[in-house]
Amino acid sequence: MFNKLPWLTLLELTMRRFNMFVGGSLKILFGTKFVPRVSILWVIGTLCFGPSAWSQVTHVVLVSFDGLRSDAIHRFENQTLPHFHQLLKEGACTLNARTDVDYTVTLPNHTCMLTGRRVTGPHGHRVLLNDIITQTVHELNGAYVDSIFDVLHRHQLTSAMAASKIKFKIYANSYPIDHVQVTDQNDAKTVQFALQQLESDHPPAFMLVHFSNPDIIGHKKGWSIQAAAFYIKAVVRLDGYLAQLMQAIQTLNDKNEPTVLIVTTDHGGTGKNHFDPNEKRNYTIPFLVWGQGIAAGKDLYTLNPKDRADPGTKQILYDASTQPIRNGDAANLALQLLGLECVPGSTIGCVPGLVVRERGK
Ligand SMILES: [Zn+2]
Repeated sequence: MFNKLPWLTLLELTMRRFNMFVGGSLKILFGTKFVPRVSILWVIGTLCFGPSAWSQVTHVVLVSFDGLRSDAIHRFENQTLPHFHQLLKEGACTLNARTDVDYTVTLPNHTCMLTGRRVTGPHGHRVLLNDIITQTVHELNGAYVDSIFDVLHRHQLTSAMAASKIKFKIYANSYPIDHVQVTDQNDAKTVQFALQQLESDHPPAFMLVHFSNPDIIGHKKGWSIQAAAFYIKAVVRLDGYLAQLMQAIQTLNDKNEPTVLIVTTDHGGTGKNHFDPNEKRNYTIPFLVWGQGIAAGKDLYTLNPKDRADPGTKQILYDASTQPIRNGDAANLALQLLGLECVPGSTIGCVPGLVVRERGK
């Protein structure tokens, strides 16, 4: 469904891998502050060929469906959730990704997605709270915590965020985001804002789009995945929002603005909450990647046989040598697709980065 990659593909991929290797090595040698300054190859590429020379993707849209259970997608097939199943058919996906190990709530996990860090422990971002708060991420941490927005800002690339929970203002207060809309549980306004961004003359290089409805319904009515459940009706509504976003992304691709969609979530749910990090229905989440150049109909664990391991039904601790795919992979995957270096200080999804293309393509 997507056009073939441009002639620069192989060169770009090689340079990006090398850039990531250099970044990762220097990070180990000199610490994280040095990394943003070492994208020498990116700079050379930019000077010689223009900003898009090394990046075959110009836009990444990260969609987080708050409280989306993987088995809700698995249980209902094409007729009920056609666009989720289109992603599975045409994208590189898993329904067996993982949240953070210690927290299965909204702000801690979204901060993982944006910073590539775990919540607690060494290099944790330490956003433990899940309320409407006035402190910044950095105040909660005790030091500046870089995010994907910082990397984009340093490269003078634009970003946007549309979110349906007021608590997301913490990111607008903490990071240089160019276009922001935060509503109180208004998913219709969220998709409207996101579409405006994608249809504008200058769509942002990266946009976070957060929908709150499945979580809100889950807390009120329960996370039941029975066909008549309120929760499933909410997921069906999400499928409609997804359709609109996929259409806008397809239009960008048709205009030769290669765009990739990443879909994941902060947690699942069971009963009327999602607070137990040891409950598999809370920590089992989707991670779906779709768009220009992405492997079609491939399982992400099959695409990453050495560096990632399917966790079965378990949560995997951070000290395990082979990690599952996590929502915390999102930031560095987006940056990798855009041809940029990893988030300084990140520990998830940098080296090795997540492979989302067929090898050799
Ligand atoms: Zn919740």
